[in-house]
Amino acid sequence: MSGEADRAEDGGTVEVLIPLALDQAYSYAVPPGLVLAPGDVVQVPLGPRQTVGVVWERGAGRGGNLKAVTAKLDMPPLDGALMKLVDWVAWYTLAPKGSVLALALRRPPEDGPERPKLGVRLVGAPPARMTPARARAIAAAEGGLLIAKSALAEAASVSAAVIDALVDAGTFAVEPLPREAVAAMPDPDHAAPALSEDQAAAAAALVASVRAATYGVTLLEGVTGSGKTEVYFEAVAEAVRLGRQSLILMPEIALTAQFIDRFEARFGVRPGLWHSAVTGRRRERLQAAIASGEAKVVAGARSALFLPYRDLGLIVVDEEHEAAYKQEDGVAYHARDMAVVRGRIENAPVILTSATPSLETRVNAERGRYTHLKLPERFGGRTLPTLGLVDLRQDKPPRGRWISDTLAKAMTANLEAGEQSLLFLNRRGYAPLTLCRDCGHRFQCPNCSAWLVDHRFRRALVCHHCGHVERRPHECPQCHAQESLTACGPGVERLAEEVATLFPQARGIVLSSDFPGGTERLKTELMAVASGEFDIVIGTQLVAKGHNFPGMTLVGVVDADLGLTSGDPRAAERTFQVLRQVTGRAGRGEKPGRALLQTHDPAHPVLKALVSGDPERFYAAEIAAREAAGLPPFGRLAALIVSANNQPEAEAHARALARCAEAPEGVAVLGPAEAPLAVLRGRHRMRLIVKTERGVDLQAYLRGWLARCGKPKGSVRVAVDVDPQSF
Ligand code: ADP
Ligand code: ZN
Repeated sequence: MSGEADRAEDGGTVEVLIPLALDQAYSYAVPPGLVLAPGDVVQVPLGPRQTVGVVWERGAGRGGNLKAVTAKLDMPPLDGALMKLVDWVAWYTLAPKGSVLALALRRPPEDGPERPKLGVRLVGAPPARMTPARARAIAAAEGGLLIAKSALAEAASVSAAVIDALVDAGTFAVEPLPREAVAAMPDPDHAAPALSEDQAAAAAALVASVRAATYGVTLLEGVTGSGKTEVYFEAVAEAVRLGRQSLILMPEIALTAQFIDRFEARFGVRPGLWHSAVTGRRRERLQAAIASGEAKVVAGARSALFLPYRDLGLIVVDEEHEAAYKQEDGVAYHARDMAVVRGRIENAPVILTSATPSLETRVNAERGRYTHLKLPERFGGRTLPTLGLVDLRQDKPPRGRWISDTLAKAMTANLEAGEQSLLFLNRRGYAPLTLCRDCGHRFQCPNCSAWLVDHRFRRALVCHHCGHVERRPHECPQCHAQESLTACGPGVERLAEEVATLFPQARGIVLSSDFPGGTERLKTELMAVASGEFDIVIGTQLVAKGHNFPGMTLVGVVDADLGLTSGDPRAAERTFQVLRQVTGRAGRGEKPGRALLQTHDPAHPVLKALVSGDPERFYAAEIAAREAAGLPPFGRLAALIVSANNQPEAEAHARALARCAEAPEGVAVLGPAEAPLAVLRGRHRMRLIVKTERGVDLQAYLRGWLARCGKPKGSVRVAVDVDPQSF
């Protein structure tokens, strides 16, 4: 925190960082009567308007003719650790510091006190005139408990008007509901499980790291179902015992009711939840509880990294290999890596968990930079699923079908045994491409270099990159042939049709991010699947993650080759991770599971490593290949995406950048070439790749380069992506 020496008062100046896409703090004079210290939230003039900013440091000069700070706002100052994190993230990602500050700055509270939500209570006699609806509402309110109006309406299946009428009649009284707690105190000993020997050893090491209260990273690697969650809960429990705060970072979609229920079963209360659907006052209150230290455990998506913890004693990054941790828009940060940075700043231990760690993390563990804990077996004597390959060259489904005989037979057997199956296909929609059989016309996005995906349920053709939607026409827009449009290839919706034909008696459900009703409905359906309400789940990558479906005993991977054919050097790692994850959905309950992977290339090393059940083989080969190629983590990478409204401008600037690259020893600049999506949202994109040796100061090189080359003109923008996830 700031000391006396950092204070600035009348006659002095301060550097104020404004949460906009500005790289530098601006100098302001301190007006008479104000004393300002770093972290203080202030109001300052910016051009013609007033804006909020944070005092970043004391200024060197005298006030002179600078504009003055307007006021110090009545808000808690930004914590020193958070300021360091903002500085660090901005330095590392090359994002404007103000944009990073925007991730961390609390909004000023909304005006006026929070209006409490209202509930009703049964207090008086029934009204003279009774109706069946009124009777139901009264029956549901029996016992005189205070109930939210909406909850009562739902429980009694009556409209709000029925309840209002009963209030008017004096049968119900209206009272404010108590505020829902955002941060109840977890009980570390509420229901501690009996751990297996392996689990207990891992938990003891993690608990020790929490007690040591110093920075250090531990990789907790364990096969799916080995109890990683139970084990890191022990570390969280220890932090709670010590009165310190824990942050559990998760991919957004993993923050399901299932996780919350498990947390509640273990600790007796729900964790503080932080994700995009938490808004308004609840968000404000949680932030305040985090800043005061009252919220002991926060489970959140990546933005939870920038919350103002008062006393962070532990950070857990669940499923650390997840690509969802990388923010692609705006500040391009990787939440796992920044979690490690925050751990270092806070001097707190960091736990990374995964069944299939990223190569970066594996290498850090192997080289001793991270502690490596392993849970080699599933809990409770459960076995990992047996994996088999289906060679599609021999067992070829008929035209327009994607489920082989072998897979269909296995599904039939499962259905007869009353067990659940999962068909995995990482393709949303009905078909990835639509073309005209007569003239060959293909439907392309007008804004992107991408095909439009057929979504039958929505009756539309959709671009998965920019969201462009158009109606699927009846005739070909080019040759005007009727009935000539053909869907090419399968998406999950089309697969669902095939399932309905093959297994008309089965209860099937398609789960993808297109699920009508959004994430919340989706979470409900995931619970329904877990409780056995469906026989066959047809899903994208979404179902691969973090869910426990106890009745699921068969996983069919419809196209195991799908991820392997891209030119991306990370393709093998990604495919290995997702296939191991999704096949790991099978056999997590009482009964053992198995998985069948359909492929045209059964000799592929990734598939062989999966089937052999020996991930070490995969990691060893992949790590050796990366090392030989000087790719991360053995070398460093950054991508520069140059975009413009038209192709010539984008290309001209990309070429100009390449000309002033002046790459020193140990740095190679590749390109420019068309970016993988050459046109995105109407912007033409060129890409340069910077590849350096490990010891090179990549950020310093990039800064120098961009400064040398001058600001882009016209519609040209340059986006820097340090550690790009695909390259
Ligand atoms: P992972 O996170 O490694 O996939 P989980 O922590 O989800 O594993 O554990 C898998 C299942 O086994 C869960 O249902 C969990 O409750 C159960 N489980 C794991 N360890 C124990 C234990 N020691 N006692 C009771 N149940 C356990
Ligand atoms: Zn598009």
